[in-house]
Parts: sequence; C-alpha cells; structure tokens
Amino acid sequence: MVKAAVVRDNSDGYVDVKDVKLRPIHEGEALVKVEYCGLCHTDLHVASGDFGEVPGRIIGHEGVGRVIQVADDVTDLKIGDRVSIAWFYSADGTCEYCVTGNETLCRNVKNSGFTVNGAMAEECIVDAKYAVKVPEGLDPVEATSLTCAGVTTYKALKIGDTKPGKWVEVVGAGGLGNLGVQLAHNVFGAPVVVVDGDPKKLEAAKKNGADVLINRHDGNVAEQIQDKVGGVYDSIVTAVNPDAFTQSVNALRPNGTLVAVALPKGDMALNIDKTVLDGIKVAGSLVGTRQDLRETFQFGAEGKVKPIVRTDKLENINNVIDDMKAGKIVGRVVFDFTGDDK
Ligand SMILES: [Zn+2]
Ligand SMILES: [Zn+2]
Repeated sequence: MVKAAVVRDNSDGYVDVKDVKLRPIHEGEALVKVEYCGLCHTDLHVASGDFGEVPGRIIGHEGVGRVIQVADDVTDLKIGDRVSIAWFYSADGTCEYCVTGNETLCRNVKNSGFTVNGAMAEECIVDAKYAVKVPEGLDPVEATSLTCAGVTTYKALKIGDTKPGKWVEVVGAGGLGNLGVQLAHNVFGAPVVVVDGDPKKLEAAKKNGADVLINRHDGNVAEQIQDKVGGVYDSIVTAVNPDAFTQSVNALRPNGTLVAVALPKGDMALNIDKTVLDGIKVAGSLVGTRQDLRETFQFGAEGKVKPIVRTDKLENINNVIDDMKAGKIVGRVVFDFTGDDK
C-alpha cells in the first residue's frame, strides 16, 4: 500500500489522502519511488471533474522520483535513475503526430493523474520509454515545476520562433509567465516585454530579465508596445483572460506569431485586416515533447530557469488547494514524499 492523494467520489475539487494498492508493473514499465510532486491548477480541474469525472484516480503530474523496479524487458531505465512524471505520460508512438515530433498531439495520449494514476503518491508506475530522466545537477524540487510550467513555456517560445535580439511579449507574469521571461531572456537571448496587472509580478519579471514592463491597467497595451518597441515578433499569452489574446494580436509586428498557452473559456477576437495584411500567425501550444522536457531540464541544471517553489506535507494538500483557489500562492507548492524534514 502507498499513501496517495485521490479524487473524491463526488469530484468536489478536493482529494482524499489514503492508502492505495498499486497494480504490479507490466512490460515496458518501471516503478518509481516518488520524492516530490508539485500541485498544479490542472490537478484542481481533475479533482473537480472538469475534464470528466475520475473518482479514485491518483492525481499529480509534476512528479520526480527514483526508479526502484523495472520490468524484465526495460532497457531505457535502470534502478536508481531519477525520472520525472509529467502530464504527457505516454502516447502510441506510431501515429502521424508521434513520428513527426508532435507526440503531445497524439490521439492516444495518456495523461498522468487523469487518464492514468499520477505522481501524488509514495510510488508511481511509469512507461519507461516516456519517463524523462532528471539530470543529477538539477534540484529535484525545482525539477517538478519544470516538468509542467517550465516545459510549457519553453515549448511556446519555440513555437513562436523566439530569436536573439527580437522582441517577444510575455502576457501574464504568474507561474508560467515568470518562467517564460527567464527562458526568453536567458536561453533565447530575446528582449522581453512583459504585461501583467500586478506591480509585484512585474517587478519580479524585471529581476528575471524583462526589459519593458507594462501594467495592463495603464491604457491600451498594444498601442504602448507598438510605441515603445515597434511591436513584437511573437507573443506568448499565459493570461487566463480572452481580452489578453485580442490585445496581443495587435501588439505583433508583421509576420508575427501569437502563441496561445492559457485556456480561458470563450473565443478570442482576431482583427481580420491586421491578420491578413500583416501575415499574422496564430498557434496553440500544449505542454512539450520528451525532447522539449530534456532541454528544459538541462537549462534548469545550468541555472537558466529557476522556478519559485516551497515544500509541504501531503496531509496539508486540501488547505493548499484552498489557498490556490484563493490565488494566495506565489510559485508552486511541492509535496515532499522523502520523509526528510526540511
Ligand atoms: Zn501542471
Ligand atoms: Zn501517436
């Protein structure tokens, strides 16, 4: 039996912490002793049944731990390896998307902590071909956030074709945007415009390398960006607000790309003149592939991206859920399964 956080029968948005018996591992799988697992807003959606109800499912997709058992046929992992458990748990590996570098779009994808049991537990089963190794030089607590927010923003900057010396806009300076600013500045070498409504978050973004700060409450954001830097080459929208998408289209230069990352309900407005006459591109970006995650971990190990994290005990998880819903948490709360008091 392992201690785990599971979705309640009534999917009320909270979890029960209880002992669960995991099934034995199958061919191609490994068993991981979880060290740390971060709690994400996506977990809250799963616990509320927003993507379909999954009572009894172990949540968690920002997990890091060490392999303690492998199936006989496994060659990708060995006992002792530190691996991650990300939202992208596995795919079929054979379809058009899987073989063209777009495996996260596979129609047979499995998601940790939603379609299969996740990492918010003392132990977790992984698909050995899909669990990405965590470099030893990377802090395992910080690695948990890189499996989700880190790789998501890194991938979005790639989709936007972010380039050295070319202005990029990061909209929203919260959990995702904060890492987006760091990656844009430290990895892509791009000058960054950051937009948020919270002066504290803007100040933090400045420390992380943002060059131009815009408070969205101070007039027309797109006009200010056109005035100050002549528009941006790409815009990464992490703000959960449809208006932010509309503003961002108008902040682009000709041939610019809007990369949609946040998932507010509703539709975005696209100015048709601007889109056609300026050759605007709009792209969605969803988490990242195994290779994207390997690269993100490497940048983490090199100190180029550093998430804000604090650890807590699993027993407190429902209090943390309340704090998340109330918007009281800066960075990530990561649950500690090591048993070490810190
Ligand atoms: Zn997540
Ligand atoms: Zn596939």
